[in-house]
Amino acid sequence: MNIKLTQSLPKTHTQKILKKEAKSKDAACLVVLIDDKKNILAESVLSDYQTRIEQLIEVSHFNGKACETVADYALAGDKKTTKENPVQLLLVGVGNVDKLRHSVLEKIANTIYKSTQKRVDSITVALGDALEENHFSQFALSLLAASYRFDKYKSEQQTPVLTDIYLLAEPSLEESLNFAQAVFTGQSLTRDVANEPGNICFPAYMAEQAQELAATYPDLLKVTVLGEKEMSALGMNCFLSVAQGSTKEGKLVLMEYRGKSNFSVNADGDTSKAIINSAKVAGGLKALADKLPSKATSKKAAKNAKQDSNDDVQVANDDSPIVLVGKGVTFDSGGISIKPGAAMDEMKFDMGGSAAVIGTLKALCEARLPINVVGALACAENMPSGEATRPGDIIIAMNGKSVEILNTDAEGRLVLCDTLCYVQKYYQPKAIIDVATLTGACVVALGHVRSAVFSNDEDVLFDLENASHLSGDLIWHMPMDDEYQAQIDSPIADIQNIGGKGAGAVTAACFLSRFIEEGQAWAHLDIAGTAWISGQDKAATGRPVPLFMQYLRNSANMA
Ligand SMILES: [Zn+2]
Repeated sequence: MNIKLTQSLPKTHTQKILKKEAKSKDAACLVVLIDDKKNILAESVLSDYQTRIEQLIEVSHFNGKACETVADYALAGDKKTTKENPVQLLLVGVGNVDKLRHSVLEKIANTIYKSTQKRVDSITVALGDALEENHFSQFALSLLAASYRFDKYKSEQQTPVLTDIYLLAEPSLEESLNFAQAVFTGQSLTRDVANEPGNICFPAYMAEQAQELAATYPDLLKVTVLGEKEMSALGMNCFLSVAQGSTKEGKLVLMEYRGKSNFSVNADGDTSKAIINSAKVAGGLKALADKLPSKATSKKAAKNAKQDSNDDVQVANDDSPIVLVGKGVTFDSGGISIKPGAAMDEMKFDMGGSAAVIGTLKALCEARLPINVVGALACAENMPSGEATRPGDIIIAMNGKSVEILNTDAEGRLVLCDTLCYVQKYYQPKAIIDVATLTGACVVALGHVRSAVFSNDEDVLFDLENASHLSGDLIWHMPMDDEYQAQIDSPIADIQNIGGKGAGAVTAACFLSRFIEEGQAWAHLDIAGTAWISGQDKAATGRPVPLFMQYLRNSANMA
């Protein structure tokens, strides 16, 4: 799908040409947004069509409720425009403009795409200055995401007629649009790999996808794959205890994105290849900072001031990477603690964390953000077999801690804990964010709207919550008080891998926290409720790629 900014109304035909023959392939559609007070958004750029729009609102009893539509297929306009602008018209309601937010914009974008994809080859959505920058970005990404399809296993694929989207909006939004396109590219890869069935997407498949990316962006990305032999030599026994039940080898895939040295250390100062113009983003961020709660801002400022005044505090190296760690259980049967059969097929999505990380790395390569980021994909298949780990087994993790495995279905934390040890040992991360479809308890707590975030660092938490607000890819801060830690104390080992009935999402985070070294900034995202849609329409959502990209964009600008 092509998307571009435009400053003009749709390309039109003279009446003379229309009389000759109506070529459907040249069909265009002007999409006009109307609020629930029947105001035409972007009215100032639509004056040529005003009479026709107002008549259409009246004769169709159009109310402007969110996602309400009415189409006028006639190729004739009002008297003044008949000759020049014979296009199809689609009115789409947006509801109360003061209540526009990500979820509403997404529904409106889906409505526009569905209403036009089979009818016209291009649409022009008249936005004018109706949407502020973040909403514009979210809307553009939603329009692109609406065109995503995963039908490679269908013997007949549908080809939509619609190929071009024009957004009639301020030229200053060009960078936001480019960024949204980069995010879309990464998010689509996330959805592609997560949608693959478990008999295709094994750990080796994930490694291949990463290596293909490195081949596409050799100047930005380096990929290393560790197999079971290498992991065994490093003492990553918790990771291996998950992989050992499967005939497919577990893989730790390390993706190193070097955006910082490629752009910042550029002698002639030419950063023109970078999509993000830092001066402009800085302006945008400042404007945003003014809108944020002053308490949080001042708290952070106070903490920074305190750090600056203390020479002994270890300040993270500017080139240190932000490390994203993704759970990549390519199929989770539960192992010997086998899952019930209903909806077990959806456990192919249990690599959603890794899928989000690989997609984010691709989006980074597209956006060419000036920042260093490492993605670590912890990939294994969790299967029951004669070689599988038993409940009650005790395993020594990479950092020497002993773990009693009480339930082999709590395996995500086992591949993650050794990977967390690995990245701390080899990368000196500025911050680590792990992302995992980790607990059913998280779905009970937050449903399918917000991902859960746990953190030991108020700056990382602040930045993630800020990115959540800006991207509309929502998260919710969950507690991790020391009092919960007792639930995972084992009577015979250092830790047990489950914490009993209550607070399952919290005790999973507590388990991971036992592998984070003192002073290491870290956050954990549980995306069990947000990585995919269940049931008949089951499909990966591509979350939280938009959240990550917003977070990294802001971090790149602050560095
Ligand atoms: Zn599991």
